[in-house]
Amino acid sequence: KHLSAALASTADSYPKTHEKIASPEDTPYFLNNQFIQSKATQFIDLYDPATNNLVTRVPQMTDEELQAAVDSAEKAFPAWRATSVLARQQIMFRFVALIRENWDRLAASITLEQGKTFADAKGDVLRGIQVAEAACGAPELMKGEVLEVAKDMETRSYREPLGVVAAICPFNFPAMIPLWSIPIATVTGNTLILKPSERDPGAAMILAELVKKAGFPDGVVNIVHGAHRTVDFILEDPAIKAVSFVGGNKAGEYIFNKGSAHGKRVQANLGAKNHAAVLPDCNKNHFLNSVVGAAFGAAGQRCMSVSTLVMVGETKEWLPELAEMAKQLKVDGGFEEGADLGPVISPHSKERIERLIQSAADEGATILLDGRGYTPAKYPDGNWVGPTIITNVTPEMTCYREEIFGPVLVCLNVETLDEAMQLINKNEYGNGTAIFTRSGATAETFRRGIEAGQVGINVPIPVPLPMFSFTGNKKSVAGGGANTFYGRPGINFYTQQKTVTTLWKSEDAVAQKADVAMPTQS
Ligand code: NAD
Repeated sequence: KHLSAALASTADSYPKTHEKIASPEDTPYFLNNQFIQSKATQFIDLYDPATNNLVTRVPQMTDEELQAAVDSAEKAFPAWRATSVLARQQIMFRFVALIRENWDRLAASITLEQGKTFADAKGDVLRGIQVAEAACGAPELMKGEVLEVAKDMETRSYREPLGVVAAICPFNFPAMIPLWSIPIATVTGNTLILKPSERDPGAAMILAELVKKAGFPDGVVNIVHGAHRTVDFILEDPAIKAVSFVGGNKAGEYIFNKGSAHGKRVQANLGAKNHAAVLPDCNKNHFLNSVVGAAFGAAGQRCMSVSTLVMVGETKEWLPELAEMAKQLKVDGGFEEGADLGPVISPHSKERIERLIQSAADEGATILLDGRGYTPAKYPDGNWVGPTIITNVTPEMTCYREEIFGPVLVCLNVETLDEAMQLINKNEYGNGTAIFTRSGATAETFRRGIEAGQVGINVPIPVPLPMFSFTGNKKSVAGGGANTFYGRPGINFYTQQKTVTTLWKSEDAVAQKADVAMPTQS
């Protein structure tokens, strides 16, 4: 009783439909391995973006409930920290296997609450599984170093967990981004408070169920709900030592500054405006396929979507062909066979995207392909925006300066590679960028001179797999990107280094007199 749509299903039976849920249940929170109904008085309604039918209500948890979650994580920490890394690794192996068993169920929850197509939602889950799989390498990744630094003396380094840590997640990857934190934070010995996006917590709730099944002790992973108030609670609670945030700049800069001011470590990945530069010597068909997928997939709601094209020289003549391909994409409910992109997250988001498209027209750009006004017959009430291509854009236009976060591609024209690079480097964001060319020398010039943190050479969405780290740059990260997500830096973020220097001298080698000068290495 009282289970959200996501939790009411099982690995064998889960809804793969946008049909109205007869009596939607509130989303519970997760504390001490139990699902609990909040006593909140305020709830955030969560609607299926394809229909705007109510799916669940997400509580704005009370301060007492939030405090109970922190208490449970604090209580669980000493024993979890004392659990060997090999034992924690075994739990992680089981967690990975369970996510794989529940893969389709997780994806179905994502399609229902977030809107992306089922095939795309499966990719969302896979990218999270890969982080959990890499976290199974913790015994290797947590090894310290030893050096004999002087006669009879050695220094060893250890990586120790921080304590209670927290993660605050965005709406656009409901499985992948919680899985940037759950595996790495816990396998290193921390206990975790995770706040999924209030717009689609279903996948995180299924992950909580799998946490329990995998054998995580009570209180190691806790899931809380809410919006700004819950975030403030996390930022102000002295027991929480570190905060991982992924989301937009407004929230992220606030969270980075406030979290840092409260003495916490913060890693924060923020917004983006990813440019792809297109050279006339590139493989044209590969470019067209890549960009159509990278600009419009997930309805443009990926932080690594290609949202800006920089057409070098005569490549601008390829734009009508690009528009023709984009026009063929099927915009439909995410569970529908053959759907290429689903709706955007909310009516508010649709309205904002349409306003930005209109601003481009008003400021003198050309709307080459206009996705406004399209509605699939079966889903008249969804938040639909079709693929949109805006050309003849200049850098001062609003549609260039703002992150649109929808299926909208803005295109600028330049004459040379140099100009393309100057334009991209001038942009304040620096998450990802791509170049399409057949020339190794051109690609090398671009790779060396470009300021974005993740560069694709003939690869449109160059998100590194978890044996590397997610390396955004400039305004796309807070704090200069010192604390990047996953990979070895992710292990470092969730651990404190300790160094121990030891001296074991034979008794007869002990000096007769104290040496008061600073020791010199000899
Ligand atoms: P968002 O910033 O609105 O929300 C993210 C989280 O912050 C949510 O949990 C939300 O409850 C909380 N939040 C929102 N506003 C807040 C405020 N004023 N104070 C305190 N907390 C607040 O982001 P979103 O709309 O869910 O996600 C889309 C954004 O995330 C885009 O800008 C996208 O580029 C970015 N993103 C970045 C990456 C990356 O790795 N760089 C990855 C995914 C998404």
